[in-house]
Amino acid sequence: MLTAGDEGWDEAVLVWNAMVAAKPSLVVQPASDHGLLLSIKGGGNNIAGTALADRGLTLDMSRMREVTVDPAARLAHVGPGCLLQDIDRATQPYGLATVLGFVSETGVAGLTLGGGFGYLTRRFGWAADNLEEAEIVTADGRTRIASRAENPELFWAIRGGGGNFGVVTRFTFRLHEVGPVITGGLAAWSADRADDVLAT
Ligand SMILES: Cc1cc2nc3c(=O)[nH]c(=O)nc-3n(C[C@H](O)[C@H](O)[C@H](O)COP(=O)(O)OP(=O)(O)OC[C@H]3O[C@@H](n4cnc5c(N)ncnc54)[C@H](O)[C@@H]3O)c2cc1C
Repeated sequence: MLTAGDEGWDEAVLVWNAMVAAKPSLVVQPASDHGLLLSIKGGGNNIAGTALADRGLTLDMSRMREVTVDPAARLAHVGPGCLLQDIDRATQPYGLATVLGFVSETGVAGLTLGGGFGYLTRRFGWAADNLEEAEIVTADGRTRIASRAENPELFWAIRGGGGNFGVVTRFTFRLHEVGPVITGGLAAWSADRADDVLAT
């Protein structure tokens, strides 16, 4: 990989038409084609270890952990390397949250693409139900938006179908009013009050 100033840069960005003024940020010079399988690693929590492919090329998203919250639109734009804790941390100052899992070290990408359920599922549905949009690079190298309005079949597929449809580069989640103060814990009543409690 070359960036401006590297040895070989000037030749790499030289094209026949000297009037072309485009300046690339990065040049990649493959030396051969290894036919490598591509695997994508989000939080790395998949129990079957599907983030790694034997003798493949692993795209590790762990540095793309940016979360942008739009409190007025009730949306969070989330990088594909985020862990659940990254979203909660960014949305809770606004008293907002989306549906994620129970363990804050889990990856958002694999959890959402596989459906995803957690503390808020009973009230607001699955994580995939709360996905409004995904930016995804499909196998043909094109960057697509998948949402209910755009590429709806691809959107349907990635909400539960796992990582088989492309590389998601951004998730957009719907937010709900939750916290920052919540009531939680175990509520227990004596068995002789069972009729009242169940009726309630
Ligand atoms: C301790 C623990 C607690 C858990 N708790 C919950 C829970 O409460 N609720 C729940 O629903 N699930 C839970 N799970 C299951 C978890 O959601 C899945 O294992 C999920 O796959 C983890 O996602 P990840 O990004 O961390 O995993 P990874 O192993 O990184 O990825 C999982 C799959 O998604 C693919 N993938 C990752 N990133 C992308 C991307 N950007 N684009 C396309 N494909 C991608 C990977 O290639 C891989 O096939 C838990 C798992 C563990 C180990």
